[in-house]
Amino acid sequence: MTADKNKELILQGISGSPGICIGKAYLVDKEGVDVVEKYYISQAAVEKEKTRFKIAVKKTSDELREIIDGTPANYRQHAHILETHLVMLKDKKLYNKLIHIIEYERVNAEWALKKVVSEIKPLFQKMSASYLKERADDIVQVADRVMMNLKGADPEDISTISKRVILVARDLSPAETSQIQLEKIKGFVTDRGGVTSHTGIIARALGIPAVLGLEKATSLVKNEDIIIVDGSTGQLVINPCEQTLIEFGERQNRYNQYKMVIAQDSHLPAITRDGIKISIQGNIELPEEVVAVLDNGGEGIGLYRTEFQYLSRAVFPYENELFEKYKEVIEIMGQRPVTIRTLDINGDKAITGVVDLEEANPVLGLRAIRYCLKNQDVFKTQLRAILRAAAFGRVRLLLPLISSITEVIATKNILNEVADSLEHDKIEYDRKIEIGIMIEVPSAVIMADQLAKEVDFFSIGTNDLIQYTMAIDRGNRYVGHMYNPLQPVIIRMIDHVIRAAQKANIEVSICGEMAGDPFNIPILLGLGFKDLSMNPQSIPAVKSMLRSLEYSEAKQFAAEVLKQTTVPAIIELINNNYGSILKDKIYKG
Ligand code: PEP
Ligand code: MG
Repeated sequence: MTADKNKELILQGISGSPGICIGKAYLVDKEGVDVVEKYYISQAAVEKEKTRFKIAVKKTSDELREIIDGTPANYRQHAHILETHLVMLKDKKLYNKLIHIIEYERVNAEWALKKVVSEIKPLFQKMSASYLKERADDIVQVADRVMMNLKGADPEDISTISKRVILVARDLSPAETSQIQLEKIKGFVTDRGGVTSHTGIIARALGIPAVLGLEKATSLVKNEDIIIVDGSTGQLVINPCEQTLIEFGERQNRYNQYKMVIAQDSHLPAITRDGIKISIQGNIELPEEVVAVLDNGGEGIGLYRTEFQYLSRAVFPYENELFEKYKEVIEIMGQRPVTIRTLDINGDKAITGVVDLEEANPVLGLRAIRYCLKNQDVFKTQLRAILRAAAFGRVRLLLPLISSITEVIATKNILNEVADSLEHDKIEYDRKIEIGIMIEVPSAVIMADQLAKEVDFFSIGTNDLIQYTMAIDRGNRYVGHMYNPLQPVIIRMIDHVIRAAQKANIEVSICGEMAGDPFNIPILLGLGFKDLSMNPQSIPAVKSMLRSLEYSEAKQFAAEVLKQTTVPAIIELINNNYGSILKDKIYKG
């Protein structure tokens, strides 16, 4: 199927980053490992062929090194993935296998490369962890580079894009993304990738509309085609007709208008109509996103997901590297609180080489605090970095996936040891750091009254709480219809945790996605939250919503919600009571 020049085509992909853009397509047209000629070589030519391959690998490795070294400091984080590519290049199994194929099958190096990649790629794709699945894409990207060097072709030079275009690619490797002058890019469209892919992460952080996982975009879109990217609905329109252009132009105006209105007062505090101040903070994954928190009016970092510094790389970060990263965030935030969550790896954020592929249920396995308590050297390195960085601002420590009091006590003992070691080493640090736990497992909800005696604050992680309470894999689209924060059981659990926290006089906040949706805000306000943390882009709408509400009214409303037994009943109650206010707060597309 190809897109007729005059024929409009609408494709549905994954909404990677909200917003709408209309413009010309710039196709990153890589030949890839799929189009490869096979030919046999004589015994005499084997050595020459092997050398040709080795030179291509060396050239690729030099190129990667050059890009890593030349990556601006702001984007260094993404360059770590290139380090992984470098390691893949040097992987002896891969390298030797290829040499073996040249020697024993006497085929050209290009064909040997294609063969090795097509054998390895499915192994990664079959893995259940989405992070490992994406490593399959890394292998293809590295192979593409080697292939280009084998063929003597120049790599696609996307650093020279001079007009504002929409980039259409099979996938955008971190190498490519770090080369792009992002101000020239109106939008991203990719065949591969999902919400956790690097393109999605970068696009969201920078507010660039993106539709991902379209499968066939690169074969259907031609260079210079007019295309529309609606990152809010996940739609791509190729060769839009006049009527569609008008329709999406209007959608674009509506979205921009919505953003503008909603952002107007985002720097003012969120105070309800009856004078209750709610603190609104941001969730970040990378230090670069701190700016987005401040720009959108965030009053602190309520959740710093630190695992992204461990993913996409060959070796774990050293203490100093972590310390510098945390310090950077803390210094930008000044006296505002920064809640650093310790490593939450495995589960759906597995690390190559660390995850036990035999683990039948990784989300029930050695994830987060369980991994850290088992791998104390890794944990201590991070805790040392956090305590050191804490000397530079207001840092709070947050522990993920706590399911028992034993884990909290064990962690506090390790933290004490770490503090003693810093004392001994005469390194500046802050020992009096507040310690909090994520409430995201049902056992923690039930034990909240006892856990509250051990910690300074709770942060409710509804993303996992729904998963573990309802027995729904949060990434499984077949049961996605049941995955809803408005499940009565979730609301009751939240209520239970808030009461336990209030009784023990400790702070309780919520940092799951639930907190970033204005639709849920009357309930959260009514249940008694005084702190919410969310994706930075959601802050303006949530603040605006809170300003339209009355706490006393929301409290009665929440009591009514707690009596409901189904999701539709709760949705109906929200619509009946707050429908008219919500109209301006939510962009519907
Ligand atoms: C959560 O589970 O709600 C949460 C905020 O943590 P994460 O999404 O990183 O698992
Ligand atoms: Mg979680």
